[in-house]
This record gives sequence, structure tokens and C-alpha cells, in this order.
Amino acid sequence: MAAPEPASAPATGPATGNAVDVDVLVVGAGVTGIYQVYRAREAGFSVEAIEAGSGVGGTWFWNRYPGARFDSESYTYAYLFSKQLFDEWTWEEHFAEQPETERYLNHVVDRFDLRRHIRFGARVVSATYDEPAGSWLVVLDDGTERRARFLVAATGVLSVPFYPAVPGRTDFQGESLHTGQWPTTPVDLAGKRVAVIGTGSSGVQIIPVIADEVASLTVYQRTSNWCTPLNNSPITPEEQEQLRADFETMREILNTSVAGFLHEPHDRAAFDDSDEERQAFFEHMWRSPGFSKLSSNYTDLLFDEAANAAWCEFIADKVRGLVHDPETAAKLIPTDHRFGEKRPPFVTGYYEAFNNPKVSLVDLKATPILRVTETGIETADGLVELDVIIWATGFDFGTGALNRMGIRGRGGMALTDHWAEGPITFLGVQTSGFPNFFFPGGPHAAAGNNPRYNGDQVDFVTDTLVYVRDHGFDTIEVDPEAEERWTAMVDKGAETAPFGTKSYFFGTNIPGKPKKYLLNSGGRPKLFKEIARVKDTGYSAFRLSSSSNGASTVASAAPVAAGGEPG
Ligand code: NAP
Repeated sequence: MAAPEPASAPATGPATGNAVDVDVLVVGAGVTGIYQVYRAREAGFSVEAIEAGSGVGGTWFWNRYPGARFDSESYTYAYLFSKQLFDEWTWEEHFAEQPETERYLNHVVDRFDLRRHIRFGARVVSATYDEPAGSWLVVLDDGTERRARFLVAATGVLSVPFYPAVPGRTDFQGESLHTGQWPTTPVDLAGKRVAVIGTGSSGVQIIPVIADEVASLTVYQRTSNWCTPLNNSPITPEEQEQLRADFETMREILNTSVAGFLHEPHDRAAFDDSDEERQAFFEHMWRSPGFSKLSSNYTDLLFDEAANAAWCEFIADKVRGLVHDPETAAKLIPTDHRFGEKRPPFVTGYYEAFNNPKVSLVDLKATPILRVTETGIETADGLVELDVIIWATGFDFGTGALNRMGIRGRGGMALTDHWAEGPITFLGVQTSGFPNFFFPGGPHAAAGNNPRYNGDQVDFVTDTLVYVRDHGFDTIEVDPEAEERWTAMVDKGAETAPFGTKSYFFGTNIPGKPKKYLLNSGGRPKLFKEIARVKDTGYSAFRLSSSSNGASTVASAAPVAAGGEPG
């Protein structure tokens, strides 16, 4: 492998005597991929990223629909590896809108001279492990090939848009758009008859933002969600100054806290308080920013049925107060799941949008879509003629991108076969039979503020690559036993995870997908504990070998760790 190089050294090139084009090939230049490119290069590897989009940003490149914005605080979502970067960048709002985030990510890429490592507009169509060579052969959609020692898929969990199999979907002669694949060219919705299908986090963001400009907006809702206010606001100069002054403390909290947020956990259970105190606390929660409704709410909110029901009733009352038409309000209040059972959306003006006479709500449980026609959407109530249909129907979460990349490991084993019953991983970064292949920010990454968890994994992957190199190895592959134990821990924890099996975190939204938990149910504490154990035991959960002299030497094939079960 290449000796450590200064940051300004050429981006790619033969890395060793072995014929590879690059040490580390990263797939995806989103938040995780950018950080991986940065870390790998700083660690002295030659690195190249392959990005399907024409720009950086990944999810923040493709999800450029009107109203797309963070619901984690901007400065907690941002990179924390450089104080200078933090000081230089001025976030405008507590929850930045997509254009600001895209500008930020472009700034990072240029500020650290990463753009020359990224190849845009190229999609991986296959990646095959070449056992004799101990490297990955990656084929791109233009037919070109790249050979890399290590393959790191930073392809994200929400990167494959899902279109439901509605009859006639492609017959529509107007414009069809998916929130997760929004065009880079301007979309003019002014004066148009528009439909939004889906009321998850994306649907509820776009609806209030376009309601005023369109001629009519028909919202097709199958299941309502427990939406609460985002409570966004501009960051004042004083707040900005304070954030910079507190950077080190903030970084420490974000790098170690369970959910990767700054929100302080509460110290009381719901019924420790009187009815009056509880109402006042819920009111305080309602006015609090973003995810604090989950992370700073009553300690038993997600675990005690009565506590959860009390909060849901509070929200339902708010909805009834905000939406003028009682029938519409009733349709907007969930009846089939508790708060936190699905990932809750955070909104600005969502409920109020239904008071706009141009906006109507179709309850798909009462009147399902029969078909899409050339001119609109037909339900049992008749045909609604449309100019634009916006599919806010979600993603093939967790494994979607990895299962579409044509990945083949040892003996030509397809990843799709290895994961036929759902993903099996160690630490959510490696899977057995696929040496030198990593997927930070993929399935079995924890739930919370995404860049924080994905960053933990990128740090671990980079440390691992350095360990491999510095110990004279060139191949690393997780031991199947370690992977089994980790996956068993994930599956067991999933039985009591706050997210219910109806949530897309179990793949339930995709027909035919195995119903397996796609997050790390052990969360950040398990991840940290196991990473420490891996390091303490000299990577005993992995098999390390060297093929530089032609012969492969297995250096370590010990089970997960002396301590037994991960985490
Ligand atoms: P989603 O949460 O999966 O919501 C998809 C919506 O489409 C649901 O309302 C679903 O209804 C509906 N749907 C699916 N199939 C349908 C069908 N056949 N007929 C009618 N409706 C159908 O997807 P999303 O809103 O794109 O959000 C996905 C995730 O992206 C979020 O949970 C969040 O993690 C992330 N996100 C984040 C932000 C942010 O940070 N601010 C913003 C947007 C999204 P059912 O519920 O009935 O299945």
C-alpha cells in the first residue's frame, strides 16, 4: 500500500507493487463518502470516489424538493473534524434548507481539496472480489474499470427511491417526480394541478411549501403520522458566537452522546408529574426544536403505553385546534401506531396547509388508488385530473443501494444471496466472504443523528485500514462467528426497539423484502464497546492476511473476542 502522502499529493495511482489503480475506492460522495475520502487520504492512502450524481451531497443532492431541510440542528449534523471549518462556516438557520446544506458540502469538498478525488456522473454496475489478486474489480456504467485494494460503499440508507406498484403509474402524461430524485433543473409548479402521494417526512415538508403557488394540491395519505413542529429559526450572531465558543464541548457531547444530539435527556417519567405539570411539559416539548420531542421527552415516553398515549392525545388536540375542518383533522390524527413507533416527521405549517382551500386530503384507506391514468389519479371517488404527480413514497432503506451494485465476494458469492434473509454484518461495516469491503452508514448503523454514527464507522474503517497496512497485511475479512453474534444482538434488540415492525426500519414498506431490523438496535454504546474490544484484542474478530508474496497467510482467525458476545 502507498506510504503516507502529504494532503497535496496526486489523488490516485498505482498504490503498491500489486496492480491496483487506487488503495481505497469509495462509492458515493454524500456526507459519509466525503468524510471517508478525507480520512483515507489523510491516513496516506490513495483514494477515489465514484459518484452517480453530477455533484456532491448524496441524499442532500438528490432530495432537492421544495422544503427539504434538516431536522437535526445544522451545526450538529455538520462535520466536526476541523474547528477551522466550523469557525469559517456560518449556518443561517438552526435547521438548514437543502440548498444551504448542498453549499456547505461543496465548501467542505473544495476547502479540503477533495473534488479531484471524485468522479461524478458514474455509477457502479458491478464490483467483484478478485481472490488471487486480493483486490476489487469495479465496473462503471460507462464500461470503464477501476481496481482497488479496498472498496468502501458509502451509498447511504435512503438512496434508492421507492415507487409503489400502482397500476398505470407510467401511463401518466403529465410530470412525475419523486422527492428522492428531484431534478437539478427548475421545476415550475405555479398554477399547476399537483398531487402529493405519501405523508412521511418528505411529503409533509413539501406540502406546505408548494400549497400557495399551485392551482390545486391533492394529498394522498395512506397512513397519517405524528407530526410535531420543527420550530426552526435563524441563528442570530450571538448564537453563532456562542456555538463557536462552545465548539469543543459541543464536539465532545456529539461524539459521545447516545443519539448524537445536544438535547438534554429529561429526568422524569410522565406520571411523576401532575396532570397540570404534564400538560405544561408537553406544551414545552411542542415548542422545542426538532428531535428534542423524542430525546428530551419523558423518560418512559417510548416504553410506557399510558405515557405515550398522553403525549399522542396532546398532539391530537393540537391538530384539532390547527385544522379548521374536523373531518380533515380526524384523518390527520394517527390511529394505528404510537408516537415513535415510526420515525416521526417534524413540520412547519403542515397542519395549517389543510386550511388552504386549494388543498384537499384523500384518505387512501377509505378510497384507495385504483389506477393512474394518462391524465390523473383515479380512486373509488372518481378521477382527479392532474398536471404533476409527486411521489413522496420513500426508499428501499438500508440495503437498497448495496443490493443493486452487483457486488460479488469470495467464490463469486453475490451479496444479494448472502443477504437473502436480510443483512448480516459485524458492526454494520463488514460482512463475511467479502474481504476488504466496508459499508459505513449502511445497514446496522445506529439510529439518531446520522452523520455522527456514520462518522463513527468511517473512523473505525479508516483505523482498520491503517492497522492492516501498518501490520504488513493487505486483506481483512470479518470472522463469520463475529458477524453472527453481532447480527444476533441486532435482531434480539429489535424485539424491544422503539421502532415497530410496521416501520421501514424493518424493510416493511418494500414488497417481498425480508422483515429484518436494519439499524443497530444496540446503538452507539454497543458500537463503541465493540470497537474498543476489537482494538484491544488486535482485531481478533477479523481474519488478516497478506498476499504480497503470492501466498495468503491467515494471521488471525479467532472468534469475536475473549469477552464473548459483542457489546
Ligand atoms: P417514508 O417515511 O417511507 O414515507 C413514505 C410515504 O409514502 C408514507 O406516507 C407511505 O404510506 C406512503 N406510501 C408508500 N407506498 C404507498 C402506496 N402504495 N400508496 C400510498 N402511499 C404510499 O418516506 P419519506 O417521507 O421520503 O421519508 C423517509 C425518511 O427520509 C424519513 O423517515 C427520514 O429519515 C428521511 N427524511 C429526512 C428528512 C429530514 O432530515 N428533514 C426529510 C425527509 C426525509 P404508509 O405510511 O402507509 O406506508
